[in-house]
Amino acid sequence: MPVYEYEHLEEPCERGLVFEETQYMNDLPLTTCPDCGRPVRKVFGAPRYLKGQKSNAELKDLGFTKLVRRDDGIYENVTARDGESKIMDRRKPETFPHLHKTIQD
Ligand SMILES: [Zn+2]
Repeated sequence: MPVYEYEHLEEPCERGLVFEETQYMNDLPLTTCPDCGRPVRKVFGAPRYLKGQKSNAELKDLGFTKLVRRDDGIYENVTARDGESKIMDRRKPETFPHLHKTIQD
């Protein structure tokens, strides 16, 4: 079953600003949060499948950096750590992930 990411458009609740929801392929996208009922929108991107794939949070814990292409030359750093830019613009080096801080070996 695919897992989709949703983003609160207003105040986030305990699920966090962005949360994951498991849905069937044919389900309509959520428009409100199942917990707080406030409006949400589906985060653009391919759904993740539970089996054999790690969540972004797991990747982050393991020290990986994952970039998801959002537009031409624009990537979302879905494992952004403190002080890192959530959006990486290929033309702006200051938005690049801080790899020197995370690679230790
Ligand atoms: Zn909510």
